[in-house]
Amino acid sequence: MQYKAIRGFRDILPDQVETWNRIEAEAKRIFGLFGFKEIRIPMLEKAELFARGIGQDTDIVSKEMYTFQDRKGTSVAMRPEATASILRACIEHKLYEEYPVLKLFTIGPMFRYERPQKGRSRQFHQINAEIIGDPGPRSDSELIFMLMWFFSSLGLHDLILNVNSLGCPRCRGPFRAELTGYLKRYSAQLCPDCQRRMDTNPLRVFDCKVETCNQVVKGAPSMLDFLCNDCTHHFDSLMAYLKALGMDFVINPHLMRGLDYYTRTTFEVQTQELGAQNAIVGGGRYDKLMKEFGGPDSPAIGFAIGTERVVELSDEHTSQREKGPDIFLAPLGKGAEDKAFMWLQELRKGGLRCEMEYRSLGLKALMRRADRLKARKVLIVGEDELIKGKGILRDMVTKEQRELPLDNVVDELIRFKETSWT
Ligand SMILES: [Zn+2]
Ligand SMILES: [Zn+2]
Repeated sequence: MQYKAIRGFRDILPDQVETWNRIEAEAKRIFGLFGFKEIRIPMLEKAELFARGIGQDTDIVSKEMYTFQDRKGTSVAMRPEATASILRACIEHKLYEEYPVLKLFTIGPMFRYERPQKGRSRQFHQINAEIIGDPGPRSDSELIFMLMWFFSSLGLHDLILNVNSLGCPRCRGPFRAELTGYLKRYSAQLCPDCQRRMDTNPLRVFDCKVETCNQVVKGAPSMLDFLCNDCTHHFDSLMAYLKALGMDFVINPHLMRGLDYYTRTTFEVQTQELGAQNAIVGGGRYDKLMKEFGGPDSPAIGFAIGTERVVELSDEHTSQREKGPDIFLAPLGKGAEDKAFMWLQELRKGGLRCEMEYRSLGLKALMRRADRLKARKVLIVGEDELIKGKGILRDMVTKEQRELPLDNVVDELIRFKETSWT
């Protein structure tokens, strides 16, 4: 019997993990500079938390959640997103009492029972960041600035930042009425779900993935024409801050979120490179959600990055040589092998990534091995070199060779790595 992974669940193999680690380490480094602290939330929560936080009649909750009864009969769900759990944790532990403005991030897998297709898995991964307790717009612009800096530090360019404002409950009422009137005129072109939503929650038509519905919303009225004075001022200030921070962006009036607690700033970053699945991060304000969960009336903003898509975009930026050892030791004969085996451990203590064969092999086989491992340098020490006290250091990229005295070879290599290793 041979086992295979469950459909929609994927192994992340060693060759790729290097890219994942680089992305996650960079997120931690940059978010840390902005004062964000990591929070680790459980994979499993009560199903009703997500029904409340995301909306009972959303696709995520009604069709895609991994919900089941545990042995006591409690209805639990694998988390389909992170925000609901983060807010639940803030309220449960009263984190807001200690920090009036909370900046939190979390990194990890999410679960949705979607049709597996290119770029989508049932276990997928997100990098989330949230600022809780500030109404913006300065915090909005800082969060977006941090996000775009993160992408550029990964070497990702040609990204398009889309921003929009969803207004507040006050100004959304008139917009909703206008939108419903518009949708009614085109109801024949809408899918059955949207025909129903048109009356219950017309904003959700913007989230629909059906092509004819997408066509209809292209001509829909714009929320921006309905913003009240406060919301207009908020959005204008956000754009002024983004410009002052040197950021390019596009105003996209069709960037909507169909849930009531989403307010004001909303944004998305798109790439041209991944075809139809082109958003790599979505985010925005959800000023009403803390209260909805029984916490204080705290405004909040956050984003969720689709890690798989970022990996796909940045994989080419991690060179193969960066993934391999700094140095591969290639001793020939038992005397050299035993010496090299001791150097190997000392070099590792000195911070060099190094490798050596456990078995005895000839020079040709050793060089093939070093190449397979993508080693950057190889130290060749045969019996002759041992007698002369000089090994040969070969650069696997440039193919240059130079002699290296062996009496102090460990310190020599460590110093060499620090000063002139390319
Ligand atoms: Zn408003
Ligand atoms: Zn639809």
